[in-house]
Amino acid sequence: MNFETTDISLAHDLDAQDELASFRDEFVIADPNLIYLDGNSLGRLPKRTVEFMRNAIEAEWGKRLIRVWNDGWINTPTELGAKIADLVGAQADEILVTEATSINLFKLALAALQARPNRTWIVSDVLNFPSDLYILQGIVKLLGKNHHLSLIPSEDGITISPEAVEAAIEEQTALVCLTHVTFKSAFMYDMARVTELAHAAGALTLWDLSHSVGAVPVDLNSCNVDLAVGCTYKYLNGGPGSPAFLYVRRDLQKQLSQPMWGWFSAKDPFSFELDFTPASDISRYRVGTAPMLSMKALEPSIDILLEAGMNRLRDKSVRQTEYLIFLADQWLIPLGFTLGSPRQPEIRGSHVSLRHPESYRINRALIESPPPATRVIPDFRAPDNIRLGITPLYTTFAEIHQALDRMRTIVEGKIYEAYSDERLKVT
Ligand SMILES: *Cc1c(COP(=O)(O)O)cnc(C)c1O
Repeated sequence: MNFETTDISLAHDLDAQDELASFRDEFVIADPNLIYLDGNSLGRLPKRTVEFMRNAIEAEWGKRLIRVWNDGWINTPTELGAKIADLVGAQADEILVTEATSINLFKLALAALQARPNRTWIVSDVLNFPSDLYILQGIVKLLGKNHHLSLIPSEDGITISPEAVEAAIEEQTALVCLTHVTFKSAFMYDMARVTELAHAAGALTLWDLSHSVGAVPVDLNSCNVDLAVGCTYKYLNGGPGSPAFLYVRRDLQKQLSQPMWGWFSAKDPFSFELDFTPASDISRYRVGTAPMLSMKALEPSIDILLEAGMNRLRDKSVRQTEYLIFLADQWLIPLGFTLGSPRQPEIRGSHVSLRHPESYRINRALIESPPPATRVIPDFRAPDNIRLGITPLYTTFAEIHQALDRMRTIVEGKIYEAYSDERLKVT
């Protein structure tokens, strides 16, 4: 993609032509001077959610009390699952909203390994989100057999080559467990190809969609994916710690045994039978009572994404990440930054990492500079990545321009030197 000028007028032109521009009005923008580029970590609050939650608390919980479950709340995990299914190319009865991503990964990875009792290898990669790797390491220890986690290497720390994937999957492989869009570099796998390779070797696949759902089009069914999990507080704007989702392809739902049996995994929770009989549908992947208030908040936010449409969102996201990289090439690479994300948009998700030896302090300066300086919120990922999240529902081209301009000023003027290198608990 070519951009002719670094002048802000181009950013304004691109915003004026943007057919998704009106979606920004759907969100609470508490400080119009704050440029928020961390929607890949915690999405903004949709205005609809505020009213929707007031009703959920005051009218539904407050007035209806326990009757609220039979008013429809009891079906929320599968009803929201059906909405998410539309975003990721699955059938309505293949997705369930439940627990946290890490917990769902544990349940599905263990179920998959138990379905391949004669195989002991788990394949993941060195770019994966550590929580996913910790869960897999814990499973290896728990199983106490000969299980082994092998990590596909990355030559450049940014991408994983198709050859490396091919070399890693072999006849001992039980499970290939990868994050579709990696959290640091935003490298995006060819989901169809990797799934095909895994299946050819007789292995199952488990994809983590945390940085994909709501950011890039995903087609689980056409890729014939077995299992998936994903997060809802990032691009789905569900709110801090909103419950995650899991996907189990329909034909596998009864074949696999979900390892954590709770009353909500049972066929009829309110029969209070002493012996467990699993539900025959996706509900068998539930465990306990749903955290209803945080779950309810997902409904209005998913509706906004469905209205915008994943193809239009992807289109804008690619234009915006391309524009960001164009400005970085002009302004920041000459100042010692390097691109920490793939250059080709086909293998890149919706965030861009820029690396610099002083990234931590530059990031602090972006976030903490007092007015009248433009404040920018990206995030920092060790050792030296500043992650800039593009959320096409509300990010403007002008904001990208202002944010990169601010980064330039901070580095050129060595403004970051006034900030501490001491790490905060949450970066
Ligand atoms: C954000 C994210 C998670 C989050 O896990 P939680 O259990 O919700 O804390 C997991 N995996 C990946 C790849 C993520 O990006």
